[in-house]
Amino acid sequence: MVYVTGFKCFRCGRKHKPHEIERLPIPRCECGSAVDAEYDYKSIKKVILRDEFMRTPPTHWKYWAFMPVKDLSKCITMGEGATPLLGNKRLSKTGRVLIKYEATNPTGSFKDRGSSLEITKALEFKKHRVAVASTGNMGASMAAYAAFAGLECKVFIPDITGKEKIAQIKAHGAKIIAVKGDYAAAIKQAEDYVLSNSDSFLTGDYPWRSEGTKTVGFEIADQLYWHVPDYVVVPVGNGTLIYSIYEAFRELSLVGITDKIPRIIGVQVENCAPVVNAWENGLSEIIPVPDPDTIATAIACGDPIDGLAALRAIRDSGGCAVRVSDSEALSARDILARNGIFVEPSGAVAYAGFMKKELSGTVVCLATGHGLKDMYGIV
Ligand SMILES: *Cc1c(COP(=O)(O)O)cnc(C)c1O
Repeated sequence: MVYVTGFKCFRCGRKHKPHEIERLPIPRCECGSAVDAEYDYKSIKKVILRDEFMRTPPTHWKYWAFMPVKDLSKCITMGEGATPLLGNKRLSKTGRVLIKYEATNPTGSFKDRGSSLEITKALEFKKHRVAVASTGNMGASMAAYAAFAGLECKVFIPDITGKEKIAQIKAHGAKIIAVKGDYAAAIKQAEDYVLSNSDSFLTGDYPWRSEGTKTVGFEIADQLYWHVPDYVVVPVGNGTLIYSIYEAFRELSLVGITDKIPRIIGVQVENCAPVVNAWENGLSEIIPVPDPDTIATAIACGDPIDGLAALRAIRDSGGCAVRVSDSEALSARDILARNGIFVEPSGAVAYAGFMKKELSGTVVCLATGHGLKDMYGIV
């Protein structure tokens, strides 16, 4: 199995053979940019038994053919994915809005989809320990999946990490390293750590995670009976989620299951909007925002690892980028909560963007993390 044919650089376009990237301590291109897995779609097309694939209920590992796994019996899974797509007429005056509620994942955010694959890869590469830089949710997710698989976990956290998320990481027995500085500083320390500890596996927004995160997109199409929505609205931190969703829809159309790609809308908060800035100014580079200050801590990524990938998803799908204020994100959080759907502030950013743009047609908004993780301003 494994239909990965290679990895292509997002910036310089250089193609790498799988082994040239897979065994690197930090899997990226020589030019410093993130890389994207490419697959042999003809073979995937052959193994997907079309009728059965179309009809079986969505689960994360249903889409294994689009993930780089060697042995399905060795996958580490805690029942991630298969999250609900919630429709509620009160949530929209303009279109038909559906909320993809990722809070029902085992640790309360969509990060579990990528963690399931990353831990599976860590075991395949016979590593003893995983290291990750995180503003909280990815750390909690890796800590849980590492503990489940019997691996050690080290989490590098920046100043802004909330206390509930720190507690969640600690509960799973992971070692926390508090980094003085922002998320970019935490990433640097995690990367330095794996460079000098070869028994450790670097996890985070590197190629494996994105491959696992694609299943959000597959599920959306699947839950709409393989009809593609007009828009998918996504919060952007590192940009991995938005790119993975775009990639999922692109792959479904490549294998002939669907016939179009939705417009992908990326939403960031005013104080941390490097991708929106690049989109508005037509740039092909991301200009980092140092030390971002926002209540949407899960997307406070001033120098997003997959920033160029996020831009590509927005541009190539004919979408757009939107900025919302912290207070718009909080009021979106409150509206969702009053209608039964509880998310943390970052989890409401997509819905805030949807309201601001007054989109019509069928619109899917990503609600990325559980409200219990960060109850900012609720008294
Ligand atoms: C990680 C995260 C995001 C952003 O995802 P990226 O892949 O970093 O763009 C948004 N919301 C929540 C709750 C998250 O945990």
